[in-house]
Amino acid sequence: MQPALDTLGRPLANLRISVTDRCNLRCAYCMPEEEYRWLPKEHLLRFEELARLVRVFTALGVRKVRLTGGEPLLRHDLHELVRQLAGIRALEDIALTTNGLLLAEQADALADAGLHRITVSLDTLREDVFETLTRRQGLAKVLAGIDAAAGRWPGRVKLDMVVMRGTNEGELLALLDFARERSLELRFIEYMDVGGATRWSPTAVVSRAEILATIAARHGEIEPLAEHSSAPAERFRLRDGTVFGIIASTTAPFCSRCDRARLTADGMWYLCLYARLGLDLRELLRAGATDESIAARLRTTWTARADRGAEQRLEELARGPLVGLDALRRDPHLEMHTRGG
Ligand code: SAM
Ligand code: SF4
Ligand code: SF4
Repeated sequence: MQPALDTLGRPLANLRISVTDRCNLRCAYCMPEEEYRWLPKEHLLRFEELARLVRVFTALGVRKVRLTGGEPLLRHDLHELVRQLAGIRALEDIALTTNGLLLAEQADALADAGLHRITVSLDTLREDVFETLTRRQGLAKVLAGIDAAAGRWPGRVKLDMVVMRGTNEGELLALLDFARERSLELRFIEYMDVGGATRWSPTAVVSRAEILATIAARHGEIEPLAEHSSAPAERFRLRDGTVFGIIASTTAPFCSRCDRARLTADGMWYLCLYARLGLDLRELLRAGATDESIAARLRTTWTARADRGAEQRLEELARGPLVGLDALRRDPHLEMHTRGG
């Protein structure tokens, strides 16, 4: 079957699957409120349903899957889903993004089941900042999770740091040292005004340019790596060979080469992180649709795609939080932790 291309000629190659909307942290940039409305448990796709959908998605060109959330390791027996996905021949890459809290205890089961790569979110090395940022304790557990991951996926562990002014921007260089000492690749992520970031403001964003300037002041010349890829991170090399990445989603969005879509834990398919409307795949599955008819719906939906959400946000001059708190409370699907970051 021909791979699907959207109206801007972008293929569908990557699927990010949120396996749960629940989380054991409350990061200020993602879930800053006290109360959340969770998706009803009976609406969550079962592993068999997810694996079936992924198989159908591969017919359209999907080759990479990333499991995310909420916190994916809260989904009971997640390694069983990994095992089912690992059996899909057309799938080339199965990755996971986690906050790391439960990773030390699950790394072996996930690696044995066939998980190829892992990204751990690490915004700070200071327990006090961790607590302020996530409103929970647990930095030591996250660090133990990173050690366990480094042992099971050598060369295939990344660390993601969301840089926020007034919170952790003073730790850029410390995080870079931490990653370098362990041969892990660190990626700096610009703070984004996604649904859930109800306290976002342009002044809290530490831009790609500022990040590079801080690193250059300590490490000298930074060499951009010439790469032709659809990956969101631009990669750079320091003189000592250390490679790091920057995901400049806010100041330099990469919508023109965006080949990813998102599936929520209850089976809503979104073509863009910023899309208001999605396609209800759970309804199709549970109404008895065949693989062929699901594939046809996916294809017509993707070929009509014109989304370039982050670029459009950049064009808006007076820019505040994307979605108001009331709207988020009415519809949890607008939240980043539901949609999968
Ligand atoms: N709970 C897991 C974790 O934190 O790694 C996976 C889900 S989380 C939504 C996925 C990624 O989205 C994390 O790396 C997180 O830092 C990032 N993220 C969440 N809100 C963000 C925001 N407002 N701006 C930039 N990145 C954000
Ligand atoms: Fe933090 Fe990830 Fe949980 Fe969001 S989903 S609150 S980023 S740990
Ligand atoms: Fe892709 Fe939408 Fe993100 Fe742009 S904003 S990179 S189109 S998901």
